[in-house]
Amino acid sequence: MRAQIVAGNWKMNNDLSETESLITSLKGQTKTSNAEVMVAPTAINLFSAYNSLKGSGIEVIAQNMHFAANGAYTGEVSAAMLKSVGVQTVILGHSERREYFNETDEMLAKKVDAALANDMRVIFCFGEELADRKSDNHEHVVESQIKNALFHLEAGAFKNIVLAYEPVWAIGTGETASPEQAQDMHAFIRKTLANQYGEDVANSVSILYGGSVKPNNAVEIFSKPDVDGGLIGGASLNAEDFFAIVNAF
Ligand code: 13P
Repeated sequence: MRAQIVAGNWKMNNDLSETESLITSLKGQTKTSNAEVMVAPTAINLFSAYNSLKGSGIEVIAQNMHFAANGAYTGEVSAAMLKSVGVQTVILGHSERREYFNETDEMLAKKVDAALANDMRVIFCFGEELADRKSDNHEHVVESQIKNALFHLEAGAFKNIVLAYEPVWAIGTGETASPEQAQDMHAFIRKTLANQYGEDVANSVSILYGGSVKPNNAVEIFSKPDVDGGLIGGASLNAEDFFAIVNAF
């Protein structure tokens, strides 16, 4: 019933020719699962990636966007610009954006609104830092990240929202949350949604896990009932590894 999604976040990797060769390798892979497959190249390569992957069943999505429609925001890209090159889905709130580019919950609420106003789908990321988990504060941190950026929305908006739980201590570290830790947090997130919007909305929203998902741990993580897919960093830069994860459902 809920969409299963595996999305590759390429981050600031791959120039144009590297993007094209990774796409060629991706097109040579076979999908045996029902998961929706997405890849997020860096902004400058979105247009060529969109054209190369058109009709392949792999959706090209963006890693970030600005909340304004246009104007004096040097270096930024708007929702309408993304849509004009074929992009329908945007990742917002990644921990690297929060940490290195000072993105706040307030800013992210505006970005979410801008994406939804442009009929885009949002993959909204959040997750605690190691210190939060060590102090047993992880649920509180995650709850406030979700509330602050999303709970001004009406229930109907959640048909275009995908959530991605990415514990900061598991990103790029090779240390993944255990399948039980992921399941516990995803169940908590779903309960938080249910308290605000009711069970129907909570049960309809896909919740992805991100943080050192690899071919050798994806099956176990994806087997958990509240884990609806993954947001994949490092392992998405290799077509075989990425499809091993896509096919882990
Ligand atoms: P890794 O898979 O490299 O840990 O990255 C996860 C991530 O940040 C996906 O957005």
